[in-house]
Amino acid sequence: MNSGSLFVISAPSGAGKTTLLKMVLPTLPNLAFSVSYTTRARRPGEIDGRDYNFVSRDEFLRLRDKGGFLEWAEVHGNLYGTGRAQVEQEMARGLDILLDIDVQGARQIREAGVTNTWLLFIAPPDMAELERRLTSRGTDLAEIIALRLANARQEMASIGLYDFVVLNDQLERAADTIRAIIIAERSRTRRNALGRPINLPETP
Ligand code: ADP
Ligand code: 5GP
Repeated sequence: MNSGSLFVISAPSGAGKTTLLKMVLPTLPNLAFSVSYTTRARRPGEIDGRDYNFVSRDEFLRLRDKGGFLEWAEVHGNLYGTGRAQVEQEMARGLDILLDIDVQGARQIREAGVTNTWLLFIAPPDMAELERRLTSRGTDLAEIIALRLANARQEMASIGLYDFVVLNDQLERAADTIRAIIIAERSRTRRNALGRPINLPETP
């Protein structure tokens, strides 16, 4: 099949997903980030169309009802969804796509049976280290951190859904592991080393 692959990445908040994706994305060719739609407010520094497509709740529901999302979910009180058109067009061009989505979204993708899909879960070394990272990031109030830690316990219970678990103990090692997974998928017999599909000869 001449199509790119889908790499779905989930992690409990604070596990280091944003940091790792920023390390991995610029280092691999033919890898595109899927910009999700969300109803949450834009944070300082975020750019519409680059970090998210920021839309009203009405607009989100309109898109959802038209079948515009590959998956969608409510996370921490806001709606998030993966735009179907961007993903399907880029995969058809042979690009690999990276989705940064939560466990509910990953489950929908798995259940939809999208071909060439790999699910990666980024795990912190332990809950104490997760709490330390959330606290040291300095972006969230204590009660929000407590909520995120409670959610993290639930999310960690879904690890069995995923194809790969990447332990983020040391950043460089975790980034290398994510790259290795993508490169290994690209090296399967149907693709060449740059990730472009190849037409295999018929086996006798
Ligand atoms: P997420 O996007 O998963 O919520 P971030 O990428 O914002 O998490 O990381 C949370 C905090 O933890 C940041 O301050 C980041 O610098 C730090 N961090 C991430 N990975 C590591 C690591 N392997 N070791 C130490 N600190 C880390
Ligand atoms: P944040 O608001 O901190 O950027 O993201 C909160 C959570 O929403 C993260 O777990 C992130 O992975 C998830 N998320 C972001 N985009 C999507 C999406 O399109 N679909 C789903 N299901 N989750 C998303």
